Amino acid sequence: MISRLHHSNTPMQTFDVAIVGGGPAGSSCAAFCALAGLRTLVLERERFPREKVCGDCLNPSCWPVLKRLALTRRVLDLPHSKLTSVEFIAINGHKVIVDLTTGDPPEAGEISVKRSLFDDLLLRRAREGGALVREKTIVTALEHNGDWKIATATGEDFHARALVAADGRNSTVARLRNLLPRPTRERVALQAHIPLPQNFGKRIALQSLREGYSGQAPVNKTELNLCLVGTPPTISRLRQWAQSHFEIAVDQPWRTITPLTRAPVPCAHENLLFIGDAARVVEPFTGEGIYYALRSGELAAGAIAKIIRGKDRQLALREFARDSAEMYQGRLWINRLARAAVLSPRIGSLFVHAAKINPAILKLLTAKVVSPKSRHSERSEVKRNEVEESR
Ligand SMILES: Cc1cc2nc3c(=O)[nH]c(=O)nc-3n(C[C@H](O)[C@H](O)[C@H](O)COP(=O)(O)OP(=O)(O)OC[C@H]3O[C@@H](n4cnc5c(N)ncnc54)[C@H](O)[C@@H]3O)c2cc1C
Repeated sequence: MISRLHHSNTPMQTFDVAIVGGGPAGSSCAAFCALAGLRTLVLERERFPREKVCGDCLNPSCWPVLKRLALTRRVLDLPHSKLTSVEFIAINGHKVIVDLTTGDPPEAGEISVKRSLFDDLLLRRAREGGALVREKTIVTALEHNGDWKIATATGEDFHARALVAADGRNSTVARLRNLLPRPTRERVALQAHIPLPQNFGKRIALQSLREGYSGQAPVNKTELNLCLVGTPPTISRLRQWAQSHFEIAVDQPWRTITPLTRAPVPCAHENLLFIGDAARVVEPFTGEGIYYALRSGELAAGAIAKIIRGKDRQLALREFARDSAEMYQGRLWINRLARAAVLSPRIGSLFVHAAKINPAILKLLTAKVVSPKSRHSERSEVKRNEVEESR
C-alpha cells in the first residue's frame, strides 16, 4: 500500500524506491524491485513508446537478464532482425566480415529491435510486476533529508526511502546532486530509421568515414537503423554522405544526442544509486550499453531490497559497487580500443587492414564483445532471481 502524506495541496506518496528514468536501466531496476515486493515508483520524462538514439542492437549478454525477467519470448515476439555477422569497413572501402554466434537456442544470438518496442515492453514489465509508472513526468528538484523528496514539473511531489538515477547520460539526478562530470561535447550522434536497402542482409555494418563513423543494422523486414557519429562541424557532411548512399527523404527526421562519452559517476551513495548510462557512458561502437543498463538495474534492485529490509546498508552498497565494477571488468579496454579507432578513422582503417591479414584479431575482439556466456557476477544470481517464463 502507498501511504499518503499531505503536503500543501497535493498528496505526497511514499515509496520504498523511486527510479528516475524508464529506459532499460530504470525499467529493469523497477521490475526487479517490484517483483521483490518493494513499493516502486518510476518517473519518466517521455510518453512511451518513444524512439531513442541507439543502434538498436541487443548484445547476447542481455538474454540471461531478460530471462530472469521472464521476457525472452516476448522480446523475440517483437518485430526484430537476427544478426549473423559484423562487417568492418575502412575509409578506403576495405572490408572484414566477422561471423556472429547465430545462437542455438535462438536467444543466445545478437538481434536488433527498435527501442520504441523494446523499452516499452520493459516498462510494461515493470508495471505488471507492480511498479507505479508516471510518464510525462520530469524530475526537477531533489531534497535529501534521510529519505528523498522528489519534485516534478507536473507539480506533484513524491517521497521515497531510496532513489535510483536511471536518467541517462545527461542525468538530471547527477546534475542536481552536483555529481555530473563536465561533458566533453566532442562528438554528436544522429540516428534515423530509413528504408532497408535491397540485399542488405543480416549484418551490422560498422563503417569508418573521414568525418567519423556510421553504424547500420536492419531492425525488421523493411527498416534500417542508421547511426552517424561525428563532431559538430562534420555532422552535416556525414548527413550528406548518408543522403548519397541510402534512400533518405529530404525531410527525414533525425534524432540526435551528445555527449558520446563522459567520466563515470560513482554508482553507490548512501541511499542514491546510479545505473546504466547515468553511471557510466560507454563508446556506442561496441553496442553494449543496453546490457550494462539491464544488468546494473538488476544489481541495484538487489542492493535496495537488502537496504529496505534492514540489512547492513554499507555492506549492501559495497557489494553493489563491487558487482557493478565486475560487470565492466575485462571489457573496458575493448571499449577504449574501439574509441581510439573511431576517434581516428585512420587508426580504425589500419586496424581493418591488419585484420585483413590476420582475421583472428577482429574475431577475438568481436567474440569478447558478443560472448553470450553469463558473466562471473551473474552466475549466483541466475538461480536466485530466475522468474519462470510467463509464456
Ligand atoms: C549512437 C548510439 C548507438 C548506440 N547503439 C547501441 C547498440 O546498438 N546496442 C546497445 O546495447 N547500446 C547502444 N547504445 C547505448 C545505449 O543506447 C544506452 O547505453 C542505453 O540506452 C542506456 O540505457 P539507460 O536506461 O541507462 O538510459 P536511457 O535509455 O537514456 O534512458 C533514460 C531515460 O530517462 C528519462 N529521463 C531523462 N531525464 C529525466 C528526468 N529529468 N526526469 C524523468 N525522466 C528522465 C529519459 O526520457 C529516458 O527514457 C548506443 C548509444 C548511442 C549514442
